[in-house]
Amino acid sequence: MDVLSRVREAGVIGAGGAGFPTHVKLNAAAEYVLLNGAECEPLLRVDQQLMAVYTDEIITGLVAAGEQVQASEAIIGIKGKHKDVIEALSERIKALGFESYVSIHILPDIYPAGDEHVLVYELTGRIVPEGGIPLAVKCVVINAETALNVARALQGHNVTETYITLQGDIPCPMTVKAPVGIPVMEVLRRSGIDDFTGYSVIDGGPMMGAVMNDYNGYITKKNKGFIILRKDHYLIRKKMMTEQQARVIGKTACEQCRMCTDLCPRYLLGHDLQPHKLMRTMKYMPGELAEAVTASLCSQCNLCEMFSCPAHLSPRSINGWYKGRMKEADIKYTPSAADYKTKEMRSYRMVPSKRLIARLGLAAFNGDAPLTNPEWHVKEVSIMLSQHAGVPAEPIVCEGDTVKAGQVIGKIRAGSLGAPVHASRDGQVVSVTDKMITIKVEAAYV
Ligand code: SF4
Ligand code: SF4
Repeated sequence: MDVLSRVREAGVIGAGGAGFPTHVKLNAAAEYVLLNGAECEPLLRVDQQLMAVYTDEIITGLVAAGEQVQASEAIIGIKGKHKDVIEALSERIKALGFESYVSIHILPDIYPAGDEHVLVYELTGRIVPEGGIPLAVKCVVINAETALNVARALQGHNVTETYITLQGDIPCPMTVKAPVGIPVMEVLRRSGIDDFTGYSVIDGGPMMGAVMNDYNGYITKKNKGFIILRKDHYLIRKKMMTEQQARVIGKTACEQCRMCTDLCPRYLLGHDLQPHKLMRTMKYMPGELAEAVTASLCSQCNLCEMFSCPAHLSPRSINGWYKGRMKEADIKYTPSAADYKTKEMRSYRMVPSKRLIARLGLAAFNGDAPLTNPEWHVKEVSIMLSQHAGVPAEPIVCEGDTVKAGQVIGKIRAGSLGAPVHASRDGQVVSVTDKMITIKVEAAYV
């Protein structure tokens, strides 16, 4: 079976958070295939450890992806602070005979080094156009866990597990390998906390992740980290601010200092995104959507809101609000230029991760989160049909069916963007809804 079909059948999706189906991404022609090993979200420890432990698989997964898109070069982007990982990667690239194809590029330890536009520029010097994707400059980007899943797919394994960092104000920081479909609470309890009454949990990284409303869900292929903090932590209070509050405060308190713009990673790449102007629009003519179309260029990286603004205002939320209104009104942005040039001051305005972590009040929690492979004793797994960008998978099993771990139980709907889903445990299907398939796990595994 060819690479694309196998990656499709295995249900590989972008493990960096967006969950875009990898078989669609790899169904393209590019000059570069880039491995996003930046892991720029503070406190997350998945990719850096996977690159150290599954070095060969990640390199071969990257090479397979590169060959699939006919890329002439593969580049691994990784921060210089991961010296041991860089050494291991260099050694194995040579040992596997890929040194003429795969190279390593050291990224600055900045946020957001892993933003695809920033990564593409750092690794190739090319600027992705406004509103565009890396393919527009002949690049395909996959992250380290995705490359691992590509390699495993080619070995015949479907995606039934994910890696999740548990970090924050907790007794047991760790990174766990978790089966897709187990209850979120099972994973959260590995943090050493049983009673979450005084805590809040961020689903994902501290910058782009959202505070969870409840913990009754199930692990999906997209889960990457849970940041657990006390409810009164600055980051939680800031993230709990509603869009409405952000707009009211922003209207009255913005001093137009333009720090949000001067440090904005997309602005620094030459895009016409100037959040201070959007703040001004919000203040004087909030309903004038035509004045706010550049909000659609915002990556929602959250740097302006969590670091840049001296008044602790929320330009990202304002951009998000405008994006929503423009979607409703079907207003689209037309790029302002054909060519882009980075701002002269860019190299002086990149935000060091260390300073960001200190600003977020997370310095005390910025330690290791060792990779572990715990046993999970669960009676049921619930496999969500929507774990990816696109349309939910279509169930192909019924109540009472016996399934094996790795078996496909939901297929891509005809003519739709999506990815199949698989059983993560042997067992019997006990319910099928339009949202998920629940499997009673075979007694031997409980
Ligand atoms: S969230 Fe703020 S800093 Fe990030 S891209 Fe959007 S406007 Fe720029
Ligand atoms: S940094 Fe804050 S105060 Fe300054 S222009 Fe931006 S939103 Fe306004």
